[in-house]
Amino acid sequence: MRYVSTRGSAPVLDFEGATLAGLAADGGLYVPAAWPAMTRDGIAALAGLDYVETAVRVMAPFVAGSLTEDELRELCTAAYGRFAHKAVTPLVQLESDQWLLELFHGPTLAFKDVALQLVGLLFERFLTGATEPLTVIGATSGDTGSAAIDALAGRAGVDIFMLHPHGRVSDVQRRQMTTVLAPNVHNIAIEGDFDTAQALVKAMFRDPAFSARFKLSAVNSINWARLMAQVVYYFYAAVRLGAPERAVAFSVPTGNFGDVFAGYVAAKMGLPIERLVVATNVNDILHRALSSGDYSSGTVTPTATPSMDIQVSSNFERLLHDLSDRDGAAIAEQMAGFESTRAMRLTNAQSEGASALFRSIAVDEDGMAAAMARAHDGAGQVLDPHTAIGYAAAVALKGEAPTVTLATAHPAKFVDAVERAVGVRPALPPRVGDLFEREERYDVLPATFEAVTAYIAERAKPRVP
Ligand SMILES: *Cc1c(COP(=O)(O)O)cnc(C)c1O
Repeated sequence: MRYVSTRGSAPVLDFEGATLAGLAADGGLYVPAAWPAMTRDGIAALAGLDYVETAVRVMAPFVAGSLTEDELRELCTAAYGRFAHKAVTPLVQLESDQWLLELFHGPTLAFKDVALQLVGLLFERFLTGATEPLTVIGATSGDTGSAAIDALAGRAGVDIFMLHPHGRVSDVQRRQMTTVLAPNVHNIAIEGDFDTAQALVKAMFRDPAFSARFKLSAVNSINWARLMAQVVYYFYAAVRLGAPERAVAFSVPTGNFGDVFAGYVAAKMGLPIERLVVATNVNDILHRALSSGDYSSGTVTPTATPSMDIQVSSNFERLLHDLSDRDGAAIAEQMAGFESTRAMRLTNAQSEGASALFRSIAVDEDGMAAAMARAHDGAGQVLDPHTAIGYAAAVALKGEAPTVTLATAHPAKFVDAVERAVGVRPALPPRVGDLFEREERYDVLPATFEAVTAYIAERAKPRVP
């Protein structure tokens, strides 16, 4: 499979190249040159397969040329072997036509493990024998950081620098990052919000001197391999609920538009998806973009769902690109406009294309708490706040098909918000039990390019020693 940049002028890469590059050199994001098709029979044949086998069938076309099917199977077996549930991503019923897909059974209790456990192994595989050390730089609103650090800690040939917004991630989220003391793990608390941290990361990738000195890579959801791994569970869940005979809807608590874009990819491959519900919190840039074509970014309002507290959704560019006949030059122009004014309008083609599959809604704190109570009282299920936003949206925007809400985090990750809403304090699962006894290590830095690059330059290994 060949990968092209959404902005059309970066080199075309194979899967290995796109995985290691993260962001494309022209500032765009890598996407497959064409969507592989899964036939109705191919989808029907997924019935009864376990998660690993499903993953191999769904991902094989995307990795073709870089990994054999057996190599892919070996990596998936290792990655998903670390999950605490046999089904990896089990379905749980909430109401007659409302389901939860629990994506939080990995090592750091959020759905990002599903992708990053695999990506960590892909990095190791592709870097074996490489001469240049890799410097992974990322920004996290909480969950990406811990999942990426868990996946890369102690791996040879890689240093990881993770920027999180100081004081704006939960205690569990912070400790899951800062208690990993492997020497290749570097935690930076930025005095600013997530978007500021993300902008710093983007600026480093774009700085010619910095990226000449270090071989940079990204594990944010801009990394194609992450999205690819997330496509799998849409197939896995839909087949269990009757696909391809019956269409299924998904409701996805959304921040960077990565997880829900994976659903779009599944639909493009042929999975019958009735609708994709984009559920945001009050930081509603995506809801505004999808409902009125207004993609304009304001200031972030901190909420009980920090992993969705963002005003720029990096992966949205991938959708805009696909809905614009994959015209890289047009996207480069549209995104340059956005980057200078922090606002843009979707074209008619983009708005109409999106409305064929997506619905959207912004859910406030009351709506979130009401959804938590509904799941707790109605089905005895304790939801994390992010999942509750998805469930509220699933109920509000219900169509004909059964709806699967993606349960993106374990409720124990956000224990205070859960207690406020439903009066119970979910316990941390045994696999992370002693988190609050472990030593922490991180540095607080001002949100400036100079401060962060100086910090990284002191600690990272340059391309040429
Ligand atoms: C990252 C995250 C999200 C948002 O996912 P995106 O891919 O950024 O849209 C939602 N919920 C939780 C718990 C997360 O960690």
